[in-house]
Amino acid sequence: MNQSFADIIEAYKKTGADCGNLSRICAAIDLDALTGNLSRIHGRLRQCGCDVPMTDVIKADGYGHGSVMIARETEKLDYISAHAVATYEEAMDLRSAGIRKPVIILGYTFPYCYDELIIQDFRPAVFRTDTLAELSQSSERTGRPVRIHIAVDTGMSRIGIRPDENGLDFVRQAMETPGIIIEGMFTHFARADEEDTSDALKQFTAFRTFARTVKDELGLDIPVLHCANSAAAIRLPETAMDMVRCGIIMYGLWPSDEVDRDLVRLEPVMSLHSHIVYIKDVPAGTRISYGGIYAPDRLSRIATVPVGYADGYSRGLTGKASVLVRGRRVPVVGRICMDQMMLDVSSVPDAAEGDPVTLLGRDGGDEITLEELGSLSGRFNYEFACDVNKRVPRVYIRDGLVTAIE
Ligand SMILES: *Cc1c(COP(=O)(O)O)cnc(C)c1O
Repeated sequence: MNQSFADIIEAYKKTGADCGNLSRICAAIDLDALTGNLSRIHGRLRQCGCDVPMTDVIKADGYGHGSVMIARETEKLDYISAHAVATYEEAMDLRSAGIRKPVIILGYTFPYCYDELIIQDFRPAVFRTDTLAELSQSSERTGRPVRIHIAVDTGMSRIGIRPDENGLDFVRQAMETPGIIIEGMFTHFARADEEDTSDALKQFTAFRTFARTVKDELGLDIPVLHCANSAAAIRLPETAMDMVRCGIIMYGLWPSDEVDRDLVRLEPVMSLHSHIVYIKDVPAGTRISYGGIYAPDRLSRIATVPVGYADGYSRGLTGKASVLVRGRRVPVVGRICMDQMMLDVSSVPDAAEGDPVTLLGRDGGDEITLEELGSLSGRFNYEFACDVNKRVPRVYIRDGLVTAIE
């Protein structure tokens, strides 16, 4: 976003649109940043000689960005071959909104939805023997085959068959189960975001060796082998295989501090905006917010912002966070409440009621990142993004204009 969010909203208001509910808090989702990130990520893969398709990981409502709106953008890109989510319900949200590309469900899918899952052409992750039998029955009932992706555990110890003799038996059994087509096989890295990549490469070797064994012993050449998450896709392109699964980086966020920022340029997609609703001078020693844990040591200007932890602005940020007002960084003071919080704006003498407040994003020369809020709150950038609450409207921006409000 080159212009300020306030300018974008001003322009939108001139169209006669009602922006009332955006004043309290809203999350701006910059679709230009999203497509820019994707194209640079894909460009890097190509540059490294790994021109493979990508799956956009849009579980947890697209890491809080809105899975449907993200999928509508990525659906148009020919190098995005499928979407990935965590649950059947998340997959249905996409289909109900008209998203047509294949959807991979990365977690365990419970049997109650297998018939519909087959009808909707979702690809479940499979690693339990009972799932094979139940999917087979559903396939018979619906008269259609089911395309599965076998999950292999090479070091995460979460889901997946082990890459050993038992694992091989499982693949054999899946091959022999009527109605089942083994479209893909995948594993997931536990430590691809760490400076030392040897563990991730060990997992990769175990996975590749297992895939080769499947081919040699069972004569099965699985069409889509995939293991790379965001960190691996940009750091270890040699692990790209037939497809990469990118979540965090397409939102312009970093998998960890240990990932080299020079590998690819990322632009944050989400920013958070509010307004000052009240401002007052308080004498030194005035206690502010619950518990009275904070009191300024001099006459101070205190501003109230109608945002709190119920919006996802974590209470754990108490005493740590700052926000941007008129391009300047000011501290959040006193405990963060459920729906409100206070700022000390003494350093911005012209601050006034109605001023925009940037909780996340850029204003003037400064920027607050999700990495900053994630680590200050003792959370994590992934977690912070997911926690931006449903009551926060999302404003989608393309070409510098508001295109949708959800
Ligand atoms: C969430 C997830 C991803 C995406 O991870 P990022 O670090 O966000 O790229 C990829 N694969 C699986 C199996 C996942 O659960």
